Amino acid sequence: MSIRGHIPLRRCLGCRSVKPQASLLRLAEGGDAGWRIDPERRLGGRGHYVCLSESCLARLLTQRTVRGMFFPSTIQQIRRMIKEQSEVEPS
Ligand SMILES: [Zn+2]
Repeated sequence: MSIRGHIPLRRCLGCRSVKPQASLLRLAEGGDAGWRIDPERRLGGRGHYVCLSESCLARLLTQRTVRGMFFPSTIQQIRRMIKEQSEVEPS
């Protein structure tokens, strides 16, 4: 993998593709609290990343190992985001 400039790259948990960190949604490992959505990238803890797309968000909830990391309220949040994404028509 080549390093281009200083753009940090991260791998999406859904489709496994590597993209610039800024284009991905951050999820923060919150210890016992489970993973939380961290759109502002302000939470501590190890970060995980996912594309802000309907299919990649949906995949988080179908992967049992990943889904098991989330708080119930986080799963609700992700469901809401999937719905929002599905209502966005690609231009
Ligand atoms: Zn993805």
